[in-house]
Amino acid sequence: MRKLISIVIPAYNEADNIPNILNKIRTVFQNLDYRYEVILVDDGSRDNTLDTIKSQALTDERIFFLEFSKNFGHQLAVKAGMDYAFGDCVISMDCDQQHPPELIPAMLEKWEAGYDVVYTVRGEDEKLSRSKRNSSSSFYKVLNWLSDIELEPGTADFRLLDQSVVKIFRKYHENEPFLRGLVKWSGFKQYALNYEPAQRYSGQSKYTVKKMVRLALQGVTSFSIKPLYTAVYLGFAFSLASVLYIPYVMYAFFSGHEVSGWASLIMTVVFFGGLQLIILGIIGIYVGKMFMQSKNRPNYIIRSTNLKTNLN
Ligand code: UDP
Ligand code: MG
Repeated sequence: MRKLISIVIPAYNEADNIPNILNKIRTVFQNLDYRYEVILVDDGSRDNTLDTIKSQALTDERIFFLEFSKNFGHQLAVKAGMDYAFGDCVISMDCDQQHPPELIPAMLEKWEAGYDVVYTVRGEDEKLSRSKRNSSSSFYKVLNWLSDIELEPGTADFRLLDQSVVKIFRKYHENEPFLRGLVKWSGFKQYALNYEPAQRYSGQSKYTVKKMVRLALQGVTSFSIKPLYTAVYLGFAFSLASVLYIPYVMYAFFSGHEVSGWASLIMTVVFFGGLQLIILGIIGIYVGKMFMQSKNRPNYIIRSTNLKTNLN
């Protein structure tokens, strides 16, 4: 029997993109000797993404959907797809063709050569806005500096995982998974493929600045407690600095200049006020994570699916 490839695609308000990405996948697999299935995860879309998928599924029995009960976010959508993908390997990719399906044969080749994970690294894209490129590259710098994993700048959520790796992923129950980091952290034999991203086919990016900042904070705080140490180091550094300040205070006192210190006083108060808020915030994020995780709620809720699972 030919091997089965599962393709997982998260979709949030992507009705216009779905027929096209499916056509591209069909074309790619025409020349490949594999069976495949596509699992589209509708992440609480408000347009007719789900109807589009359903009508595609009517004419093509390789198309499946998982409908979330609301928007749970891209990472959990991919995670859910993987949880229900039982092919020999699982490929996750975006809906908007920024992850070119034409790369699939190269990924499969590396997989056949014995790699368990084939992940992709996005090349510098001139077409992407400068702000997006800058924010993305500084995100990876900060992440690598602060956490205990090393991610290449531009690592994308476009990757192939062997079923043995996906099986391990089913055991992860993080309610804010940062998949790129988890994949790297999991080990196995990994191969990095470079690719040139295409333009988004239709519609706008669903990643708002707010979502990007959140993903960045999630990335750092789910892989490291270094920020907490940074807070301690900062505390030490400033206590030391304030000790060094004493001679100046003495000098000002004895030379009669002490009342002129208002500006430096207010600066110090404002500065330390800000610093304390930042540090409290950092601690707060970790406490929040523990709170969310300790409630042990399901990480996502599936409203309906045409997959043959015990959900129906
Ligand atoms: N997406 C999702 N839920 C969200 C946001 C995005 O499932 O809350 C999906 C979206 O439909 C797309 C993929 O995640 O298939 C990547 O999103 P997008 O293309 O908007 O991000 P960008 O490429 O701009 O980083
Ligand atoms: Mg995109």
